[in-house]
Amino acid sequence: MLPYLDLALERRPDWPEYAIGMTLLGLFLLGVFSPRLQAFGPVLCGPRPGARPRVALTFDDGPDPETTPRVLDALGEHRATFFVIGEKAKRYPELVAAMHTAGHQICSHGIRHSWSLVLSPWRARRLTLGGLRALNQVGVQDRRFFRAPYGLMTPPLMSVLRESGITPVGWSLRSWDSIHPGPADTFAIRLAQRARNGDIILMHDAPEHPGGRRPLGIEATATLVRTLTSRGFDLVTIETLYRGDEAEASPETGTTTIGGRTARRSRGRRRNRTARTQTAAGERTLERDRFARTP
Ligand SMILES: [Zn+2]
Repeated sequence: MLPYLDLALERRPDWPEYAIGMTLLGLFLLGVFSPRLQAFGPVLCGPRPGARPRVALTFDDGPDPETTPRVLDALGEHRATFFVIGEKAKRYPELVAAMHTAGHQICSHGIRHSWSLVLSPWRARRLTLGGLRALNQVGVQDRRFFRAPYGLMTPPLMSVLRESGITPVGWSLRSWDSIHPGPADTFAIRLAQRARNGDIILMHDAPEHPGGRRPLGIEATATLVRTLTSRGFDLVTIETLYRGDEAEASPETGTTTIGGRTARRSRGRRRNRTARTQTAAGERTLERDRFARTP
């Protein structure tokens, strides 16, 4: 056996072997860099249309004291999902509390923003479980959803998420707000025009690292919200998009308790949601069933 192995290692591969090797490597990297392909397991990427037009705005990389409050102000009464970095959350727990008070969903984006943490099972465990532990320390117990830094979905990371019962979240509409040159209003209007019912829109509420390039999404959120709502979209959380409105308040689905408070909706909003619940009950039952099967 060994002489054959020596021979195989010493022999220069022919071009078909190179071509097959490079193609396999290319397909692997495509799967890692494109969560929508779901090459290594299920990832929630949308779109998940509702009976009424809706989109889920998601903001990554915060919280940051200079930029996150601006995004929270721009969102006003509307709901969004924040994928926060564990180390930043521990540094700015008051910003996590502000997200919670405004009724937003808070999920983990890992303990820190590093691509190398997705490379081995040990590092992937540190990325995911360390991030969740950090969120726990600032009062967030919800551990259902996770978005990987840069959306990198490697086999070791997917395997850790599966073992831990955590659902990875991707996106169906990428804004590219981290690199878009602007102007912010034009960017926001074009993005809103591209949105479809059920889209998960990827934005950022903070630079990747402190002092880094400011994502355009921070300045663009107010116009984006205005344009989306004028097009008739409801802005919902990932939870609402995949489970149905009533699940958002259910203690079984995971809660956020900060300062001894649990998220509560206003009566008016609850009435509106009840009406929507009745009109779309059948669809959501189907969605719940599908969701339950998603690891
Ligand atoms: Zn990120």
